Amino acid sequence: MQSNPNETQSILRRLPAVHEILDGPEIKDAEEAEKLPRWALRQAARNVLDLQREAILRGDLTEPDPLDRTHAEVLREARKLLLRSLRPVVNATGVILHTNLGRAPLAEEAVRALQEVSVGYSNLEFDLDSGKRGLRYEHVEELLCSLTGAEAALVVNNNAAAVYLALRVLAKGKGVIVSRGELIEIGGSFRIPDILRESDATLVEVGTTNRTHLKDYEQAIGSSTGLLLKVHPSNYRVMGFHKEVSTEELVALGRRYGLPVMEDLGSGCLMEPGIPGLVREPLVSDVLRSGADLVTFSGDKLLGGPQAGILLGRKETLETIQRHPLNRVLRIDKLTLAALEVTLLLYRDPQTARTRIPAMAMLSIPEATLRRRAQRLAGKLRKSLPASFTVSLRSVTGRAGGGSMPMDAIPGVGISLQSSRVRAEEILVRLRGASPPVIARIEQDEVILDVRTLRKGEDRLILQAVQIFSTC
Ligand SMILES: *Cc1c(COP(=O)(O)O)cnc(C)c1O
Repeated sequence: MQSNPNETQSILRRLPAVHEILDGPEIKDAEEAEKLPRWALRQAARNVLDLQREAILRGDLTEPDPLDRTHAEVLREARKLLLRSLRPVVNATGVILHTNLGRAPLAEEAVRALQEVSVGYSNLEFDLDSGKRGLRYEHVEELLCSLTGAEAALVVNNNAAAVYLALRVLAKGKGVIVSRGELIEIGGSFRIPDILRESDATLVEVGTTNRTHLKDYEQAIGSSTGLLLKVHPSNYRVMGFHKEVSTEELVALGRRYGLPVMEDLGSGCLMEPGIPGLVREPLVSDVLRSGADLVTFSGDKLLGGPQAGILLGRKETLETIQRHPLNRVLRIDKLTLAALEVTLLLYRDPQTARTRIPAMAMLSIPEATLRRRAQRLAGKLRKSLPASFTVSLRSVTGRAGGGSMPMDAIPGVGISLQSSRVRAEEILVRLRGASPPVIARIEQDEVILDVRTLRKGEDRLILQAVQIFSTC
């Protein structure tokens, strides 16, 4: 219906003014009770009025909303404005290194270090012995070397940056030989062929998807070859009729032709997680012992630390990379460095690493412990939820996530929530809307809360979150 411009103007004139809304008794009461700041209420009133104005201009609203409804909306909007965008969530998905949920949770020790270093000043690039300028990398280099047997180490913003930087420095304008079975894509649009192109190296694909032989690499070597690259396939595996060339073989070939060998390990395991039945991820120290000139991996995958890219290898190689201007662009920040150093310190004693680093600890929780925890929480949920809900235990399979150990379905225990009144999808949405949000998943039409990834004290948060169902 075409609205009359005069009519529209007269509706618009009946909209209340911001100060009128703010003077409403409901607003005043809530302002005092919830300590809502004035700026938030004023901004909220403007936003709500803007929406009504647009609706009137579209012809969707023929009268301004009644004042009590406007007040309620302003309060809801003001509370929303006060929420931070990046917030903690409860991870009930059972995926330990969930990339969308921030990958590895940090050890308490790492969080303390991060906090101490960030509230004041630090010796980030200051040598306390000489009083002269120091290098930020020195805070972790020796530690990384002693944990892995590497000659030298460098850390950057993330592993994608580490791979890009290494390729750019070592292989710009040259050919990089990679097996077709290793031309992978990790989530978040990290693809080996794209990263090679961006670093100005030429991709030389060899072998086939499932089988690549040493002679394939050798036949591809030419005068423009600069690097032999091996990539850990991370998030997938080729099963069956499969052949890949080992790091040792590739290193031997590289030596014969005077070519460096780089291996992108992705996850980068510093020690055996010590869990029976898990498919073994290559250990960083093994790859270095095989003679690779350069190894790269993430700080926040199986290592269980902050987002970082770690480069280990030969001294000369790493010195060249460290001095390159691109390293300055991709440099690691002090908060990350503080958390990384402390996470690495925990690895000096494997038992400490297994218990103090959350990702490691979550991987190794025995099924019996998970079952006990699930039973306890399920009991409390039954008491908190209305009769229309059924709470039961399910055997589930968890995942390491983050492209680590893709073949390992880790047996775990989940709590299933079903309701005769609320659809599974709706339960999921409402749990996400809780504060803090609870992230669960649906399996066979049941909402599953996987207890493996719940941290201490989060049972209480889940019980709080399900209060929204008390009227269902
Ligand atoms: C995860 C991964 C990357 C990217 O690492 P980020 O730390 O996410 O930047 C690169 N290569 C491989 C093989 C990976 O698994």
